Amino acid sequence: MSDIKMVMRDKIPCWYELSLYSDKKEKAADILIRIHSDVANCVKGISFKKVSKHMKRENFEGEFGRNIGFNKTLKYLGEKDNFLEYLVPIPITDKVSEKKCADCDGTGNFNGNECLFCKEGKAICVDYRDADAVCASLSLLLSTINNFSSTLETSARNFQLMCVRTRFVFGGELYIGGELSREVVDYLIRSAIVRPGWYDIAVSMQMVFQAAQREFYKDFQDRYFKVSIKRDGSLFAECPGDGSFLYTQNQLLRGCYGYELSSHGIDTPVQHLTFVAALAAIHDHVRADQ
Ligand SMILES: [Zn+2]
Repeated sequence: MSDIKMVMRDKIPCWYELSLYSDKKEKAADILIRIHSDVANCVKGISFKKVSKHMKRENFEGEFGRNIGFNKTLKYLGEKDNFLEYLVPIPITDKVSEKKCADCDGTGNFNGNECLFCKEGKAICVDYRDADAVCASLSLLLSTINNFSSTLETSARNFQLMCVRTRFVFGGELYIGGELSREVVDYLIRSAIVRPGWYDIAVSMQMVFQAAQREFYKDFQDRYFKVSIKRDGSLFAECPGDGSFLYTQNQLLRGCYGYELSSHGIDTPVQHLTFVAALAAIHDHVRADQ
């Protein structure tokens, strides 16, 4: 096949898919990425050195069948039904330190209310280094697969549900874009009238965000996780931040094509992973619905 395939337009045998992996004991969530073995074979042998240099890091392990990514951060779980399964871990980014909170002078109270900047008077130390490595690894992996499999037909029976393009540069801008297939849009149209569809997506986002802030997460943050799905299947998801959104566009092409994905105001790797979790939740729902 020499034609370039578009997820928005074509039914493409699955290259990769996202899924949520939750450990109920820990009340945390991780993300899984499943890569078809035909894609892994196609990408095999590609040098990641040049691309990883662009990302201002060179320690990218790119050999499939073992842990891959910057600092080997994506964990290989094994092969199942011709798909190589990788765990995308959610590192803890906000940790409680032994230092006294400067905002409330270590009292845990601020003008008579609970101080929002600490945990019971102890300062919070934010460290994005591990989360940066996860996001950068996922971005480089997805962009490589998207580029090299655009003409590839795998032997998978399922179709590719979405093309996820994440952009991450260490110390730079973050972004999520891509394409949703018509199958996903049809699912979103159906779930616009059934509450569990969007409710589960919002819960999945919250679980991932909360996993990163495990020790510091505040209940009031719950209200900032919003997902709305309109009757035309257009999606709008929001997470805590300064206008952090994931949304669909080009709805006017409905009926012929799927939708484009875009995002705004992703400032931290935690927000980045939170929106990837939303897409993983959608993957799980559509697969379960088939
Ligand atoms: Zn405080």
